[in-house]
Amino acid sequence: MFWEAVGDGRVRCFLCYRRCLIPEGKKGFCNVRQNIEGKLYTLVYGLLTAVNVDPIEKKPLFHFHPGSNVLSISTVGCNFHCMFCQNWNISQQRNVFGREYKPEEIVSVALENGADGISYTYNEPTIFFEFAYDTAKIAKRKKLFNTFVTNGYMMPEPLKAIAPYLDAATVDFKGSGNLNFHRKYMSVPDASPIFETLIEMKERGVFIEITDLIVPQYGDNLADLEKLVKWINENLGSETPFHLLRFYPHYLLQDLPSTPVKTLEKAAEKAAETGLRHVYIGNVPGHKLENTFCPHCGVKVISRDGFYISGTNLSNSNKCGNCGYKLNIEGNVKRRNRFYLF
Ligand code: SF4
Repeated sequence: MFWEAVGDGRVRCFLCYRRCLIPEGKKGFCNVRQNIEGKLYTLVYGLLTAVNVDPIEKKPLFHFHPGSNVLSISTVGCNFHCMFCQNWNISQQRNVFGREYKPEEIVSVALENGADGISYTYNEPTIFFEFAYDTAKIAKRKKLFNTFVTNGYMMPEPLKAIAPYLDAATVDFKGSGNLNFHRKYMSVPDASPIFETLIEMKERGVFIEITDLIVPQYGDNLADLEKLVKWINENLGSETPFHLLRFYPHYLLQDLPSTPVKTLEKAAEKAAETGLRHVYIGNVPGHKLENTFCPHCGVKVISRDGFYISGTNLSNSNKCGNCGYKLNIEGNVKRRNRFYLF
């Protein structure tokens, strides 16, 4: 899907903003789309590297069906090359491998395991678009929801195609969207398509939560954070959930320390000052900012312990139990058994 022949044996892929021009026999940047005799083929249709049930909070989605379970699936490959990728062993793979599944099998596995939805995650779902699209359509018919965990580099046409079946997305920033950071540490030439994707998602009714990975020394600039947060506030709304994620050394950035919790707290303060009303700190289990507070009266309305919801103070219509303020939460909170997670 989303390619055309350019007339000299080469093909142009329009699935993501890289818009790779691919000569005969070669693959695109993501390594999973190949020009074979003048036609572009996906090499990872149904070839999955992970199929397992996760708490939705792991995505992270804190305001979309809190406490639900999602069947998480992935393939190999990615259209970004992040030097700090925590899933680099699948995302940066040069070999194509996985266990074969059909879309309907994935939906059956989700239903058999009591999942409430399917999450296309771990590696970038854009690059296994065709399988995600076919699965999402069947899942929707079976009353499951679909969520993407994405870098937001999908072109508008594929986004329009999948939007009717896509209920929510976690869109991941790194280094607060700083252009030099994207170029140097992620091999991404331009961050602006991510913002266009977010606008398109909002217009099409996809529920959005945003993460920002704060990398010490290179990607922890408060001026960049302020710029990003202002953009979110003005374009997506002040109640968009915003997750500041702690970096841990991974892949090619092994020699950096983890992000100090103080750095994350300063960033959270800045995000809140700039106007965002649901700011979270992630990858720091037990931190106060993994809970949800009412933006009107400040009372804690969802208590979390890591990915586990330990208590709520919300009515069935997601109004604050103290002041009645209606929170930006879609779906009712489910209480998941703790033993399920460990
Ligand atoms: S999906 Fe892959 S082949 Fe297509 S434009 Fe993006 S990186 Fe290139």
